[in-house]
Amino acid sequence: EKFKEGLAKTRQNFAGKVNDLIAKYRKVDEEFFEELEEVLIQADVGFDTVLELVDELKMEVKRRNIKDPADVKDVITEKLVDIYNAGGGQNGLNIQEKGPTVILFVGVNGVGKTTTIGKLAHRFIRDGKKVLLAAGDTFRAGAIEQLEVWGRRVGAEVIKQKEGSDPAAVVYDALQAARSRNADILLCDTAGRLQNKANLMKELEKVKRVIERQVPGAPHEVLLVLDATTGQNALVQAKQFKEAAGVTGIVLTKLDGTAKGGIVLSIRKELNIPVKFVGLGEKMEDLEVFDPEKFVYGLFE
Ligand code: GDP
Repeated sequence: EKFKEGLAKTRQNFAGKVNDLIAKYRKVDEEFFEELEEVLIQADVGFDTVLELVDELKMEVKRRNIKDPADVKDVITEKLVDIYNAGGGQNGLNIQEKGPTVILFVGVNGVGKTTTIGKLAHRFIRDGKKVLLAAGDTFRAGAIEQLEVWGRRVGAEVIKQKEGSDPAAVVYDALQAARSRNADILLCDTAGRLQNKANLMKELEKVKRVIERQVPGAPHEVLLVLDATTGQNALVQAKQFKEAAGVTGIVLTKLDGTAKGGIVLSIRKELNIPVKFVGLGEKMEDLEVFDPEKFVYGLFE
């Protein structure tokens, strides 16, 4: 239900337009496919993905001898799920049986990183886990305080130092605290902006090294948070972070705020990194595990 509500805009713009197209055409011809391409590109499915999808659709339509546009819809949904599932990477989170599971969050300011940490902490706590938060964004004014607000809201302790301190030192403290308090999960915030990109990436590498030294096998996940409403721009950011931070999964926020939810598919296709969660609102319950079948079928239902 939450999924359906949160995707209302995309459903209208994407699936709604596909439905209109199907109603408009009597037969499946070249013109039909051209218009379909247009709809998919407008929904931010991504140019390469659209071309591949439409090529495969044409083949499948021929193979199954489909004449009625209404029958193409099922093929579209099947192919969209297939394209998503063809990408590599592990879908669920890599959670350790014996904690702490360390998850590092990266992404530029404003994408919803802090909110996502709060929401995810809430999920884990609801499942009976002990969660600690590391206030590793020591750069942005107010970031520590904002994380503390989320910590109080969901019932997670925040490990912090003062603004401007070394994030690697904060994370070091948090790792010690996680061990001594037997925490199951440690969620580490990081800065989204330093004076320049090279600085930001260097800082992330340093934080990662501290984690690697303290907990063998950690970080268990590096989650890149991206804002769905920024469309193709999100992809550019993702490419930069992918190299520097060794991203293992994407959290795509604000999917409720865009009609171009097809961005999920372009991200998957172009980066080969799974989308692990999607943000569907500002409240603590508004985070859903991303399930490609639920997503695609939910759109076209
Ligand atoms: P940060 O700078 O990356 O830590 O971003 P914040 O967590 O402060 O979030 C920036 C804004 O986006 C806040 O107003 C959040 O409430 C909002 N936000 C975060 N996630 C979502 C989401 O999934 N949907 C919507 N509609 N808003 C979100």
